[in-house]
Amino acid sequence: MDPTPRDIGWIEVITGCMFSGKTEELIRRVRRAMYARQRVVVFKPRIDNRYTDDSVGSHSGQQLRAVRVDHVHQIRAYIQDARVVAIDEAQFMGPELVGLCESLANEGLRVIVAGLDMDYRGVPFEPIPQLLAVSEYITKNLAVCAVCGNPADRSQRLVEGSDRLLVGASDKYEARCRAHWSPDGFELRQQPLPLGVNLAELTD
Ligand code: ADP
Ligand code: MG
Repeated sequence: MDPTPRDIGWIEVITGCMFSGKTEELIRRVRRAMYARQRVVVFKPRIDNRYTDDSVGSHSGQQLRAVRVDHVHQIRAYIQDARVVAIDEAQFMGPELVGLCESLANEGLRVIVAGLDMDYRGVPFEPIPQLLAVSEYITKNLAVCAVCGNPADRSQRLVEGSDRLLVGASDKYEARCRAHWSPDGFELRQQPLPLGVNLAELTD
């Protein structure tokens, strides 16, 4: 296991497809920092209206208070004496996020960023690729393919529409492995999982 850095800041990126547990992992890390009595501020883009307004939420119902921002420039004003800054849904934050994360880490803060690595077409979702390049720690999570149960790294859009930005959960997206994912496969229907597993009973 890597030693935890001392007296310096750093960037951690948690990435993967939808339902891969990025937000759960961010919440876990933030809670642990809080147990260590470190001041933590959590941010999310205003675009993400899922769950309650002033919190980040996972698909399994975990929640954590968060500041909603319209733009990266608003983040600094809320940081004050925080030791840890966490940002969820970072793929919606725009390219300026990279510079901000670098500055905060250079100033000695721990920066935890969670976001999608690919959009529904399988195209890298900037600024996550750039953040992966400059971060010290990377965690890439996999979900479970809704068709076959294999590890899933892609987000399958289930409804029509070519906007990159379409916020939704299991009503609009499904986790899929590369064999069952298609960039324009919204007409693909969910098939039963093998071994009698019913995913609908597991999800919200
Ligand atoms: P993310 O932030 O990556 O979209 P979340 O942390 O919000 O993911 O949610 C992860 C949770 O989603 C899992 O712990 C599980 O309860 C639920 N879930 C629903 N569908 C799936 C799936 N196909 N694969 C894995 N987890 C799923
Ligand atoms: Mg999430």
